[in-house]
Amino acid sequence: MSKVYFIPANANENVLLIEKLGTLLGRVGVGNLNGVVALKMHMGERKNKTFLKPVYVRKIVEVLKKHGGDTFVTDTTTVYKLARYNAMDYYRTAFEHGFLPSYLGCPVIIADGLKDEGVQVNEKVEIARSIYDSDAMLLLSHATGHGSASFGGAIKNVAMGCVTKKSKIYQHEVTKPTYDNELCTQCDACIEECKFDAIEIKENGDRDDRELINEKCVGCGCCIAACETGALHLQVGAKENFQLRIAEVANTVLKSLPYSNCIFINFLIDITPFCDCEDLSPEYMCPDIGILASKDIVAIDQATIDLIGKHSFEGDPTIQVKEAHRLGLGEQEYEICRV
Ligand code: SF4
Ligand code: SF4
Repeated sequence: MSKVYFIPANANENVLLIEKLGTLLGRVGVGNLNGVVALKMHMGERKNKTFLKPVYVRKIVEVLKKHGGDTFVTDTTTVYKLARYNAMDYYRTAFEHGFLPSYLGCPVIIADGLKDEGVQVNEKVEIARSIYDSDAMLLLSHATGHGSASFGGAIKNVAMGCVTKKSKIYQHEVTKPTYDNELCTQCDACIEECKFDAIEIKENGDRDDRELINEKCVGCGCCIAACETGALHLQVGAKENFQLRIAEVANTVLKSLPYSNCIFINFLIDITPFCDCEDLSPEYMCPDIGILASKDIVAIDQATIDLIGKHSFEGDPTIQVKEAHRLGLGEQEYEICRV
């Protein structure tokens, strides 16, 4: 049974959580993260308010340094064209959100670099260069619900966050929209929203339809969010298939890194129904629960879902966890060790 260490959030405060972070990191064994340590996290889409705050990261950097780790904070660029689409925009967004090297005490490096560069480990998966080139990884995940994956935790953070655009697109292939002309009011909100020019107007007798250009579509889902009538929607089974792809890619990444020294920290605070890629105002699924740490990525995500409550999520959040377990990434049974 895998161990999952846990600091509960008490009524009062983040200060206490931060004070206990050092003990939590010690218990899970960050002293064994040697050499160059990638501190992988999501620094928040611009206008997102609930991303994991730099004050926690600064504390973690301090602890890692005490143990001799030479760490850097990192993430990869996105598949959709917002304020983290390329490295330069991501640096600007990260700095606006307070992820400044001078504050954190370590460099911030966008892992896929200026040219979305990675190391191809199989036909579908390319690991972002700086993550591959590290000696160890500490993965910080902000636990949230997710519009397409039901749940976003450590498995999703590895699958979508440690790879280049090519591998993100591979996962998003199953979330490409489908179109129902009966429901379409021809408002063209979808065409305005699509930054990839992947929706065109197609003449169809006395009315126009909207047509998806498959080769151009990256499956980002922005048009689905913009379509108020439901004319654009996910295909049947898309959410389940997306979770299966996430587990598949996480498995490939973790088994292809030239190091196995990885530790996972899940923050169960500011838990929103959508992930930190969204620029929506916060709306919380439940009160703060605390912080978890484990060497087992399956156990920590299972524990996270159990603590939040499986039924709080839209859809079944455990598909990715079960699949990751089936692929041999870890155990769904765990023991909670309170810190
Ligand atoms: S068509 Fe929709 S899902 Fe595809 S790239 Fe455009 S906005 Fe994204
Ligand atoms: S947003 Fe929806 S309703 Fe409007 S044109 Fe696109 S598919 Fe049709």
